[in-house]
Formats: sequence, structure tokens, C-alpha cells
Amino acid sequence: MLQEHVALKPFNTFGVAARTRWYAEVTSTTELSTLLADPRVAGLPVLVLGSGSNLLLTRDYDGLVVRYIDDHVRVIAPGRDSHLLEVGAGMNWHRFVDWSLAHGYVGLENLALIPGTIGAAPIQNIGAYGVEVERFINAVEVFDRERRCTTIFKHDFCEFAYRFSRFKRSDERNRYIVINLRFRLPRGAELHLDYPGIREELAAMQIASPTARDVFDAVVRIRRRKLPDPSVIGNAGSFFKNPIVPTAVANALLSTHAAAPNFDAGEGRRKLSAGWLIEQCGLKGYRDGAAGISAQHALVLVNHGNATGADLWRVAQHVQTCVRSRFAITLEPEPVVI
Ligand SMILES: Cc1cc2nc3c(=O)[nH]c(=O)nc-3n(C[C@H](O)[C@H](O)[C@H](O)COP(=O)(O)OP(=O)(O)OC[C@H]3O[C@@H](n4cnc5c(N)ncnc54)[C@H](O)[C@@H]3O)c2cc1C
Repeated sequence: MLQEHVALKPFNTFGVAARTRWYAEVTSTTELSTLLADPRVAGLPVLVLGSGSNLLLTRDYDGLVVRYIDDHVRVIAPGRDSHLLEVGAGMNWHRFVDWSLAHGYVGLENLALIPGTIGAAPIQNIGAYGVEVERFINAVEVFDRERRCTTIFKHDFCEFAYRFSRFKRSDERNRYIVINLRFRLPRGAELHLDYPGIREELAAMQIASPTARDVFDAVVRIRRRKLPDPSVIGNAGSFFKNPIVPTAVANALLSTHAAAPNFDAGEGRRKLSAGWLIEQCGLKGYRDGAAGISAQHALVLVNHGNATGADLWRVAQHVQTCVRSRFAITLEPEPVVI
């Protein structure tokens, strides 16, 4: 089960070369417990890996990389209007969205084609096209590394927010390994068509009364067109979070840049577009050796070939510096940076 000195290049969508001291794949909590008690890895740092699509490795990992690869789907409580489902952390996210629609569940269609696993979905509360996954999460079952047992956290305990959850808190980070996710999925629900681009895509598909499957297809078409494919050019999707700032800061920006996209973020705050800020700095398509910014999408850092994680991190820091000096706004990375 335990392997030493394993290459992580196949396990991160940036495609950067890095190695881990120890690597293991487990399929059950029994195997996980046994692994963590192994004297060769006990006390070492642990990195749980899904598909590595939200990760930048800037160095080798001197610890244990573990992948939890159970991918079962089980209806645990059928209801009249919705069902409670349990899904193993190792299940591919997009495959589950497709499965859910094929089985008559509605809700996850706007989240189609997000790379990665079920286990990683609650970590940053994945979201796209106006929908965040937390809306459908009933509970998260985890293995607690500190107490060495499994626990089920109800939705409210998880502190979900924009690209955030309790699992990203600095005092809790890496303590919990997600093993199952419980979803409450409606059997029929209102579609979310208001996010810019969706209605236009449905119109282009000549669909007047869309079903959830039509929305899924529309989202897939938009994403395929807009986002660079990691199997063609290494990337981790959006590299920076959209900054959420006090309304006064947004107003100051709008007084000089009336076209700056901005959205209500509640509690007297506005969400700005990180992609727009980067584009204004003239960085779309920027390149530093093999690392750079996508010419297709200003928010996406790309590996043109043999960039190292350190090369990509240097580009990320350059972007942060440019945006800070031009707009006095600090961009925060979205992926986990090791
Ligand atoms: C082309 C592209 C487009 C993307 N679009 C979006 C998007 O629209 N919206 C969005 O939100 N994200 C997007 N992402 C980011 C990414 O797909 C998601 O964050 C996804 O959930 C990461 O899944 P993963 O399995 O690859 O996680 P990994 O990259 O392997 O891990 C990410 C983090 O989750 C932790 N983790 C993983 N599995 C577990 C587990 N079982 N238990 C505990 N911790 C775990 C890891 O330790 C790490 O901290 C995109 C990425 C790419 C490459």
C-alpha cells in the first residue's frame, strides 16, 4: 500500500514535476487508520489528494500523500420531493453530476465539468454559474486525524462561504479527511439560468424550455469554449479568488473605472472580478518562460511545457504585485499552494 519516492506529476493538473516521500491509496477507513499508524509515516505531514486540480506544488513533499479512492453512490433516504444520497470521496465530480441527472435529480447541473473529486468539493465549496455546492450538502463524513475516528458534520458546522469552508481554516487545515459526502438532492427544482451566458447558450442551442440536462449541456459547451483544458495545457482553473471588498473600496474603483464588474456580496461588501483586474494590468497572455497567464482567460495560470511550480508561483506573485500597485487590492490564490 505504502510507496516511497513517488512522482506527483500525473497527480496535478498543472503537470508540474514534484515527488512525495510517501504515497498511498486507500479504499476504506480501516485501511486509512492502518496507514496513519504505520511507523514509517506516523508524525509526518499528510496531504490528501483528489485529482490535484486545485493544487500548486512548488517543491517536493516531505510527508505522506494519500488518496481516498472509494467512489460508491448510495441512496440512504428516499423522500417525496428529495432524496438523501451518500457518495464516496473518490468519485469523480463531473461523473456524479452526470449520474445525478440521469437518475432524475436536479440541482447540480450548473456545476458540470468542474474537475476533481467529491472529497474535495466541500473543501473550497466549489461553485460555478451562480451555484455553490453547499446548497446541496446535507453532511460531510470525515476521518478525524486528531481523534482517529470518523465523524459526521452537519452542513452548518462546515462554515461554508465563497470558496471557503471550515476545512480551510488554518487551525483545522489537514485535520479532517473527507470520506463521504451526503447530498440532499431535489427530484425537481427551479433551474438557475440567470448567470451571464447561460440563457444565451440555450438560445444558441435553440432551446426555449430547458430541462436540467439542457442546462448541463449548455454549461459544458461554455466551459469547453472558455477554459483551457488541463489535458492540453497545464492549469488549475481560476488561480485567484474574486476579491470581496467594502462598498467604499468598490465605489472608489468605480469612480475611475466605471465599467469594473462588481456584484453584491452582502453585509455592505462588493465582489470584484479578479480576471478584469488582471486584464486591466495588461497581463492576459503574459509569459515568463514556460509559465504564464492564459491568453484565453486572464484568471488562469498556465504551464506551457516544463514550468516548475516555483516558476508558476513567481508569475502568480507578479500578478499580485501588479494588481496591488495599480488598484491597491490584494488577490488571494484559490488553489492550495505547497
Ligand atoms: C480547468 C479547471 C476548471 C475549474 N473550475 C472550477 C470552478 O468552476 N469552480 C470551482 O470551485 N473550482 C474549479 N476548479 C478547481 C477544482 O476543480 C476544484 O477545487 C476541485 O474541487 C478540486 O478537486 P480535486 O479532487 O482535484 O482536489 P485537489 O486539487 O486534489 O485538492 C484540493 C484541496 O482539497 C483537499 N482535499 C482533496 N480531497 C480531500 C479529501 N478527501 N479530504 C480532505 N481534503 C481533501 C486537498 O488536500 C487540497 O487542499 C477548476 C480547476 C480546473 C483545472
